[in-house]
Amino acid sequence: MSKRLPVKLRAHVRQRAGRCCEYCLIHEDDVSLSHQPDHIVARKHRGQSQADNLAWACYVCNQLKGSDLSSIDLETGRIVRLFNFRKDRWSRHFQLDGAKILPLTAVGRATEHLLQLNEPKAVTARQDLIQYGRYPR
Ligand SMILES: [Zn+2]
Repeated sequence: MSKRLPVKLRAHVRQRAGRCCEYCLIHEDDVSLSHQPDHIVARKHRGQSQADNLAWACYVCNQLKGSDLSSIDLETGRIVRLFNFRKDRWSRHFQLDGAKILPLTAVGRATEHLLQLNEPKAVTARQDLIQYGRYPR
């Protein structure tokens, strides 16, 4: 994680995401810690620093995801890959229910659990943003 991405690539990933976390959809203007480029497939797993392997992520989502590629689906007990923004459609795996992010698939459940997308503080923060018309953007 120490190597910085080229400025142009970082800006491309940021703009492509509309400056929102591609996991929890929070806009970078609505959090105090900076959003970051996330290697969907981490460098330690031979993921490349190129646009199709990068997502724009809030600090919390990026830290919780780390270099993970999969997690356990609590419903089936199976190992399931995580959501991949470059290959999957968000609305196929998740649905917003007010401030909650409801997983719709095994991939969604594994990702929601690993990233703690419905941790009470995150839901409360999203509820506040919804009141001001700032979530989702
Ligand atoms: Zn996030």
